[in-house]
Amino acid sequence: MKFEGQLTDFVVKIKSWARELGFSELRIADVDPGIAEIRLQKWLACHFHGEMNYMAGHGTKRSRPDELVPGTRRVIVARMNYLSSDALDWKDTEQARMSDVLAARVSMYARGRDYHRVIRSRLQKLADRMQEEIGSFGYRVFADSAPVMEVAFASKAGLGWQGKNNLLINRNAGSLFFIGEMLVDLPLPVDEAVTSHCGQCRRCIDACPTGAIIGDKLIDARKCISYLTIEFKGVIPIEFRPLMGNRIYGCDDCQLVCPWNKFAEKTHIDDFSVRHELDSATLCDLFAWTEKEFLNNTEGSPIRRIGYECWCRNIAIALGNALRSKLDDETGKQILNMLSEKRKHASEMVTEHIDWAMNQSNESD
Ligand code: SF4
Ligand code: SF4
Repeated sequence: MKFEGQLTDFVVKIKSWARELGFSELRIADVDPGIAEIRLQKWLACHFHGEMNYMAGHGTKRSRPDELVPGTRRVIVARMNYLSSDALDWKDTEQARMSDVLAARVSMYARGRDYHRVIRSRLQKLADRMQEEIGSFGYRVFADSAPVMEVAFASKAGLGWQGKNNLLINRNAGSLFFIGEMLVDLPLPVDEAVTSHCGQCRRCIDACPTGAIIGDKLIDARKCISYLTIEFKGVIPIEFRPLMGNRIYGCDDCQLVCPWNKFAEKTHIDDFSVRHELDSATLCDLFAWTEKEFLNNTEGSPIRRIGYECWCRNIAIALGNALRSKLDDETGKQILNMLSEKRKHASEMVTEHIDWAMNQSNESD
Protein backbone atom coordinates (compact mmCIF):
# COMPACT_ATOMS: atom_id res chain seq x y z
CA MET A 1 0.00 0.00 0.00
CA LYS A 2 1.35 3.39 -1.08
CA PHE A 3 0.99 5.01 2.36
CA GLU A 4 2.06 2.07 4.50
CA GLY A 5 4.16 3.34 7.42
CA GLN A 6 2.75 6.83 6.97
CA LEU A 7 -0.67 6.24 8.43
CA THR A 8 -0.20 8.64 11.31
CA ASP A 9 0.72 11.46 8.93
CA PHE A 10 -2.25 10.57 6.77
CA VAL A 11 -4.60 10.84 9.76
CA VAL A 12 -3.21 14.31 10.55
CA LYS A 13 -4.08 15.29 6.98
CA ILE A 14 -7.57 13.76 7.20
CA LYS A 15 -8.26 15.79 10.34
CA SER A 16 -7.05 18.97 8.69
CA TRP A 17 -9.15 18.39 5.54
CA ALA A 18 -12.17 17.69 7.76
CA ARG A 19 -11.74 21.08 9.42
CA GLU A 20 -11.49 22.74 6.01
CA LEU A 21 -14.77 21.09 5.12
CA GLY A 22 -16.50 22.57 8.16
CA PHE A 23 -16.26 19.66 10.60
CA SER A 24 -15.33 20.72 14.11
CA GLU A 25 -13.51 17.55 14.98
CA LEU A 26 -12.81 14.10 13.55
CA ARG A 27 -11.63 10.99 15.34
CA ILE A 28 -11.27 7.30 14.59
CA ALA A 29 -12.54 4.12 16.28
CA ASP A 30 -12.11 0.45 15.58
CA VAL A 31 -15.15 -1.68 14.73
CA ASP A 32 -15.65 -3.46 18.04
CA PRO A 33 -18.92 -2.21 19.56
CA GLY A 34 -18.04 -3.54 23.02
CA ILE A 35 -20.79 -3.31 25.63
CA ALA A 36 -22.88 -1.00 23.43
CA GLU A 37 -24.12 -4.01 21.46
CA ILE A 38 -25.55 -5.70 24.55
CA ARG A 39 -27.13 -2.43 25.68
CA LEU A 40 -28.80 -2.08 22.29
CA GLN A 41 -30.15 -5.62 22.38
CA LYS A 42 -31.61 -5.12 25.86
CA TRP A 43 -33.13 -1.80 24.83
CA LEU A 44 -34.79 -3.39 21.80
CA ALA A 45 -36.00 -6.36 23.87
CA CYS A 46 -37.80 -3.90 26.17
CA HIS A 47 -39.49 -2.31 23.10
CA PHE A 48 -38.16 1.11 24.12
CA HIS A 49 -37.73 1.89 20.41
CA GLY A 50 -41.50 2.11 19.90
CA GLU A 51 -42.38 2.08 16.21
CA MET A 52 -38.82 2.70 15.02
CA ASN A 53 -38.63 -0.79 13.59
CA TYR A 54 -35.59 0.12 11.50
CA MET A 55 -33.67 0.13 14.78
CA ALA A 56 -34.29 -3.59 15.20
CA GLY A 57 -34.44 -4.51 11.54
CA HIS A 58 -30.74 -4.86 10.82
CA GLY A 59 -29.76 -7.39 13.48
CA THR A 60 -26.12 -7.12 14.48
CA LYS A 61 -25.31 -5.00 11.39
CA ARG A 62 -26.29 -1.99 13.45
CA SER A 63 -23.65 -2.66 16.07
CA ARG A 64 -21.02 -4.25 13.82
CA PRO A 65 -19.89 -1.94 11.01
CA ASP A 66 -17.88 -4.76 9.42
CA GLU A 67 -21.13 -6.70 8.92
CA LEU A 68 -22.93 -3.66 7.54
CA VAL A 69 -20.12 -2.93 5.08
CA PRO A 70 -17.91 -6.00 4.75
CA GLY A 71 -14.22 -5.21 4.92
CA THR A 72 -14.65 -2.23 7.26
CA ARG A 73 -11.73 -1.85 9.65
CA ARG A 74 -12.29 1.62 11.08
CA VAL A 75 -15.12 4.03 11.79
CA ILE A 76 -14.16 7.64 11.10
CA VAL A 77 -16.52 9.84 13.11
CA ALA A 78 -16.82 13.58 12.60
CA ARG A 79 -18.91 16.20 14.33
CA MET A 80 -20.29 19.47 13.01
CA ASN A 81 -21.70 22.23 15.20
CA TYR A 82 -25.22 23.38 14.40
CA LEU A 83 -25.94 26.19 16.84
CA SER A 84 -26.91 29.10 14.63
CA SER A 85 -24.41 31.93 14.49
CA ASP A 86 -27.35 34.37 14.87
CA ALA A 87 -28.20 32.81 18.23
CA LEU A 88 -27.23 35.55 20.70
CA ASP A 89 -27.85 34.57 24.33
CA TRP A 90 -29.31 31.38 22.93
CA LYS A 91 -29.89 29.72 26.28
CA ASP A 92 -31.85 32.65 27.72
CA THR A 93 -33.85 32.93 24.52
CA GLU A 94 -34.72 29.23 24.48
CA GLN A 95 -35.66 29.29 28.13
CA ALA A 96 -37.88 32.34 27.65
CA ARG A 97 -39.67 30.58 24.79
CA MET A 98 -40.17 27.55 26.99
CA SER A 99 -42.46 29.56 29.24
CA ASP A 100 -44.19 31.48 26.44
CA VAL A 101 -47.19 29.25 25.72
CA LEU A 102 -47.80 30.88 22.34
CA ALA A 103 -44.24 30.37 21.08
CA ALA A 104 -43.67 27.46 18.68
CA ARG A 105 -40.67 25.48 19.82
CA VAL A 106 -38.82 23.70 17.04
CA SER A 107 -35.73 21.81 18.11
CA MET A 108 -32.59 23.86 17.42
CA TYR A 109 -31.04 21.28 15.11
CA ALA A 110 -34.00 21.39 12.73
CA ARG A 111 -34.24 25.09 11.98
CA GLY A 112 -31.90 25.12 9.00
CA ARG A 113 -31.10 22.91 6.02
CA ASP A 114 -31.37 19.15 6.35
CA TYR A 115 -28.17 18.06 8.07
CA HIS A 116 -28.26 14.58 6.47
CA ARG A 117 -27.48 16.06 3.08
CA VAL A 118 -24.95 18.59 4.36
CA ILE A 119 -22.96 16.03 6.35
CA ARG A 120 -23.12 13.29 3.72
CA SER A 121 -21.95 15.56 0.93
CA ARG A 122 -19.03 16.89 3.01
CA LEU A 123 -18.01 13.39 4.08
CA GLN A 124 -18.10 12.43 0.43
CA LYS A 125 -15.77 15.34 -0.36
CA LEU A 126 -13.48 14.17 2.42
CA ALA A 127 -13.43 10.64 0.95
CA ASP A 128 -12.61 12.10 -2.48
CA ARG A 129 -9.73 14.08 -0.98
CA MET A 130 -8.44 10.95 0.77
CA GLN A 131 -8.58 8.99 -2.49
CA GLU A 132 -6.64 11.70 -4.28
CA GLU A 133 -3.92 11.20 -1.70
CA ILE A 134 -3.75 7.42 -1.46
CA GLY A 135 -5.75 6.02 -4.35
CA SER A 136 -8.88 3.95 -4.20
CA PHE A 137 -10.07 2.38 -0.94
CA GLY A 138 -13.35 0.91 0.31
CA TYR A 139 -15.66 3.26 2.19
CA ARG A 140 -19.26 4.35 2.83
CA VAL A 141 -20.48 7.55 4.41
CA PHE A 142 -23.47 7.90 6.73
CA ALA A 143 -25.27 10.65 8.58
CA ASP A 144 -28.04 9.37 10.79
CA SER A 145 -29.18 7.53 7.69
CA ALA A 146 -28.21 3.93 8.23
CA PRO A 147 -28.08 1.45 11.05
CA VAL A 148 -24.82 2.65 12.57
CA MET A 149 -24.61 3.09 16.36
CA GLU A 150 -23.11 6.48 15.90
CA VAL A 151 -23.03 7.72 19.49
CA ALA A 152 -21.38 4.49 20.63
CA PHE A 153 -18.64 4.71 17.99
CA ALA A 154 -18.23 8.47 18.43
CA SER A 155 -17.71 7.91 22.10
CA LYS A 156 -15.31 5.06 21.41
CA ALA A 157 -13.33 7.43 19.18
CA GLY A 158 -13.17 9.96 22.02
CA LEU A 159 -15.35 12.56 20.33
CA GLY A 160 -17.11 12.85 23.68
CA TRP A 161 -18.88 10.59 26.13
CA GLN A 162 -22.40 9.22 26.09
CA GLY A 163 -24.28 11.42 28.58
CA LYS A 164 -27.09 10.23 30.82
CA ASN A 165 -29.46 11.75 28.23
CA ASN A 166 -27.93 9.33 25.69
CA LEU A 167 -26.42 12.16 23.63
CA LEU A 168 -22.75 12.58 22.89
CA ILE A 169 -21.30 15.24 25.19
CA ASN A 170 -18.05 16.94 24.31
CA ARG A 171 -16.05 18.75 26.97
CA ASN A 172 -15.32 21.68 24.68
CA ALA A 173 -18.58 21.86 22.78
CA GLY A 174 -21.48 20.36 24.78
CA SER A 175 -23.90 18.41 22.61
CA LEU A 176 -25.20 20.82 19.97
CA PHE A 177 -23.59 19.16 16.97
CA PHE A 178 -24.35 16.54 14.34
CA ILE A 179 -22.36 13.37 13.87
CA GLY A 180 -21.49 11.64 10.61
CA GLU A 181 -19.47 8.51 9.92
CA MET A 182 -17.28 7.08 7.22
CA LEU A 183 -16.69 3.33 7.37
CA VAL A 184 -13.33 2.57 5.78
CA ASP A 185 -11.30 -0.55 5.02
CA LEU A 186 -8.07 1.22 6.01
CA PRO A 187 -6.09 0.17 9.11
CA LEU A 188 -5.82 3.74 10.41
CA PRO A 189 -4.53 4.32 13.95
CA VAL A 190 -7.42 4.74 16.40
CA ASP A 191 -8.05 7.53 18.92
CA GLU A 192 -8.57 7.01 22.63
CA ALA A 193 -11.98 7.21 24.28
CA VAL A 194 -12.51 9.88 26.93
CA THR A 195 -14.02 9.31 30.37
CA SER A 196 -17.53 10.43 31.27
CA HIS A 197 -17.90 13.76 33.03
CA CYS A 198 -21.55 13.48 34.00
CA GLY A 199 -20.54 12.65 37.56
CA GLN A 200 -23.39 13.02 40.04
CA CYS A 201 -25.30 15.39 37.74
CA ARG A 202 -28.85 14.32 36.83
CA ARG A 203 -30.20 17.58 35.50
CA CYS A 204 -31.32 16.03 32.20
CA ILE A 205 -33.18 13.25 34.00
CA ASP A 206 -34.97 15.72 36.27
CA ALA A 207 -35.75 18.14 33.44
CA CYS A 208 -37.28 15.63 31.02
CA PRO A 209 -40.96 16.63 30.80
CA THR A 210 -42.22 13.10 30.20
CA GLY A 211 -39.82 11.05 32.33
CA ALA A 212 -38.39 9.45 29.18
CA ILE A 213 -34.86 9.14 30.63
CA ILE A 214 -35.46 6.09 32.74
CA GLY A 215 -31.85 5.43 33.70
CA ASP A 216 -28.28 6.32 32.89
CA LYS A 217 -28.14 6.47 29.05
CA LEU A 218 -31.49 4.73 28.95
CA ILE A 219 -34.32 6.39 27.05
CA ASP A 220 -37.80 5.02 26.62
CA ALA A 221 -38.31 6.52 23.17
CA ARG A 222 -42.05 5.91 23.40
CA LYS A 223 -42.21 8.67 26.01
CA CYS A 224 -39.72 11.02 24.37
CA ILE A 225 -41.19 14.15 22.78
CA SER A 226 -38.64 13.97 19.96
CA TYR A 227 -39.96 10.53 19.10
CA LEU A 228 -43.61 11.49 19.56
CA THR A 229 -43.42 14.62 17.40
CA ILE A 230 -41.10 13.29 14.66
CA GLU A 231 -40.95 9.51 14.44
CA PHE A 232 -44.42 8.59 15.64
CA LYS A 233 -47.09 8.95 12.98
CA GLY A 234 -50.27 8.07 14.82
CA VAL A 235 -52.57 9.44 17.50
CA ILE A 236 -50.45 10.79 20.35
CA PRO A 237 -51.54 9.21 23.65
CA ILE A 238 -53.55 11.71 25.68
CA GLU A 239 -51.33 11.43 28.76
CA PHE A 240 -48.39 12.92 26.85
CA ARG A 241 -50.22 15.83 25.26
CA PRO A 242 -50.20 18.27 28.22
CA LEU A 243 -46.54 17.37 28.85
CA MET A 244 -45.57 18.32 25.30
CA GLY A 245 -46.30 21.98 26.05
CA ASN A 246 -45.36 24.11 23.05
CA ARG A 247 -42.81 21.67 21.56
CA ILE A 248 -43.95 21.02 18.01
CA TYR A 249 -40.89 19.39 16.46
CA GLY A 250 -38.41 17.63 18.70
CA CYS A 251 -37.38 18.64 22.20
CA ASP A 252 -34.21 20.28 23.50
CA ASP A 253 -34.91 20.23 27.22
CA CYS A 254 -32.32 17.62 28.17
CA GLN A 255 -29.70 19.63 26.27
CA LEU A 256 -30.75 23.02 27.59
CA VAL A 257 -30.09 21.99 31.17
CA CYS A 258 -26.83 20.18 30.49
CA PRO A 259 -24.03 22.22 32.08
CA TRP A 260 -21.63 21.25 29.28
CA ASN A 261 -23.70 23.20 26.79
CA LYS A 262 -22.34 26.42 28.20
CA PHE A 263 -19.45 25.48 25.91
CA ALA A 264 -21.69 24.93 22.86
CA GLU A 265 -20.03 26.37 19.78
CA LYS A 266 -21.69 28.38 17.03
CA THR A 267 -21.62 26.92 13.54
CA HIS A 268 -19.76 28.39 10.58
CA ILE A 269 -22.01 26.50 8.17
CA ASP A 270 -24.49 28.77 6.40
CA ASP A 271 -26.74 25.80 5.65
CA PHE A 272 -27.69 25.70 9.33
CA SER A 273 -28.89 29.30 9.46
CA VAL A 274 -32.44 29.58 10.73
CA ARG A 275 -35.11 29.51 8.04
CA HIS A 276 -38.63 30.97 8.15
CA GLU A 277 -38.01 32.47 11.60
CA LEU A 278 -38.34 29.04 13.17
CA ASP A 279 -36.51 30.41 16.21
CA SER A 280 -39.13 33.08 16.86
CA ALA A 281 -42.38 31.97 15.19
CA THR A 282 -45.61 31.64 17.14
CA LEU A 283 -47.86 28.60 17.10
CA CYS A 284 -50.46 30.63 15.20
CA ASP A 285 -47.90 31.67 12.55
CA LEU A 286 -47.06 28.06 11.82
CA PHE A 287 -50.58 26.64 12.16
CA ALA A 288 -51.65 29.12 9.48
CA TRP A 289 -49.41 27.42 6.89
CA THR A 290 -51.38 25.66 4.17
CA GLU A 291 -50.10 22.31 2.96
CA LYS A 292 -48.57 24.07 -0.05
CA GLU A 293 -46.81 26.56 2.22
CA PHE A 294 -45.61 23.72 4.44
CA LEU A 295 -44.09 21.96 1.42
CA ASN A 296 -42.50 25.17 0.12
CA ASN A 297 -41.21 26.31 3.47
CA THR A 298 -39.75 22.96 4.45
CA GLU A 299 -38.03 22.26 1.13
CA GLY A 300 -34.56 20.96 2.03
CA SER A 301 -35.42 20.97 5.76
CA PRO A 302 -35.51 17.92 8.06
CA ILE A 303 -39.01 18.98 9.14
CA ARG A 304 -40.45 17.98 5.78
CA ARG A 305 -40.16 14.30 6.55
CA ILE A 306 -42.94 14.38 9.17
CA GLY A 307 -45.44 15.61 6.58
CA TYR A 308 -48.19 18.18 6.87
CA GLU A 309 -50.55 15.92 8.80
CA CYS A 310 -48.15 15.37 11.72
CA TRP A 311 -47.15 19.05 11.57
CA CYS A 312 -50.81 20.05 12.11
CA ARG A 313 -51.24 17.33 14.76
CA ASN A 314 -48.27 18.62 16.77
CA ILE A 315 -49.28 22.27 16.57
CA ALA A 316 -52.90 21.44 17.44
CA ILE A 317 -51.68 19.84 20.67
CA ALA A 318 -49.52 22.87 21.49
CA LEU A 319 -52.46 25.20 20.80
CA GLY A 320 -54.59 23.07 23.13
CA ASN A 321 -51.93 23.46 25.79
CA ALA A 322 -51.95 27.24 25.22
CA LEU A 323 -55.74 27.29 25.61
CA ARG A 324 -55.41 25.63 29.02
CA SER A 325 -53.35 28.54 30.30
CA LYS A 326 -54.74 31.97 31.05
CA LEU A 327 -54.92 33.76 27.70
CA ASP A 328 -56.74 37.01 27.05
CA ASP A 329 -60.17 36.50 25.48
CA GLU A 330 -59.11 37.81 22.09
CA THR A 331 -56.18 35.37 21.76
CA GLY A 332 -58.27 32.47 23.04
CA LYS A 333 -60.92 33.22 20.42
CA GLN A 334 -58.33 33.54 17.65
CA ILE A 335 -56.91 30.13 18.50
CA LEU A 336 -60.33 28.49 18.65
CA ASN A 337 -61.19 30.02 15.26
CA MET A 338 -57.97 28.76 13.73
CA LEU A 339 -58.57 25.27 15.09
CA SER A 340 -62.12 25.15 13.83
CA GLU A 341 -61.07 26.45 10.38
CA LYS A 342 -58.33 23.82 10.10
CA ARG A 343 -60.79 21.14 11.24
CA LYS A 344 -62.91 21.67 8.11
CA HIS A 345 -60.27 20.09 5.88
CA ALA A 346 -58.35 17.97 8.39
CA SER A 347 -57.84 14.21 8.28
CA GLU A 348 -59.51 12.02 10.88
CA MET A 349 -56.25 11.81 12.84
CA VAL A 350 -55.73 15.58 12.93
CA THR A 351 -59.41 16.16 13.73
CA GLU A 352 -59.06 14.01 16.83
CA HIS A 353 -56.20 16.23 18.06
CA ILE A 354 -58.02 19.43 17.14
CA ASP A 355 -61.08 18.30 19.11
CA TRP A 356 -58.88 17.57 22.10
CA ALA A 357 -57.23 20.96 21.74
CA MET A 358 -60.54 22.84 21.57
CA ASN A 359 -61.72 21.07 24.70
CA GLN A 360 -58.70 22.35 26.61
CA SER A 361 -60.25 25.81 26.80
CA ASN A 362 -62.58 24.30 29.42
CA GLU A 363 -59.70 22.85 31.41
CA SER A 364 -57.68 25.91 32.32
CA ASP A 365 -54.66 25.30 34.59
S1 SF4 B 1 -35.67 15.05 24.13
FE1 SF4 B 1 -37.10 15.88 25.67
S2 SF4 B 1 -38.57 14.23 26.06
FE2 SF4 B 1 -36.79 13.31 25.00
S3 SF4 B 1 -35.45 12.61 26.63
FE3 SF4 B 1 -34.77 14.70 26.16
S4 SF4 B 1 -35.95 16.00 27.56
FE4 SF4 B 1 -36.93 14.01 27.55
S1 SF4 C 1 -27.29 17.10 32.19
FE1 SF4 C 1 -25.75 16.25 33.55
S2 SF4 C 1 -26.20 14.03 33.61
FE2 SF4 C 1 -27.26 14.89 31.84
S3 SF4 C 1 -25.85 14.59 30.14
FE3 SF4 C 1 -25.46 16.67 30.95
S4 SF4 C 1 -23.81 16.37 32.46
FE4 SF4 C 1 -24.66 14.35 32.01
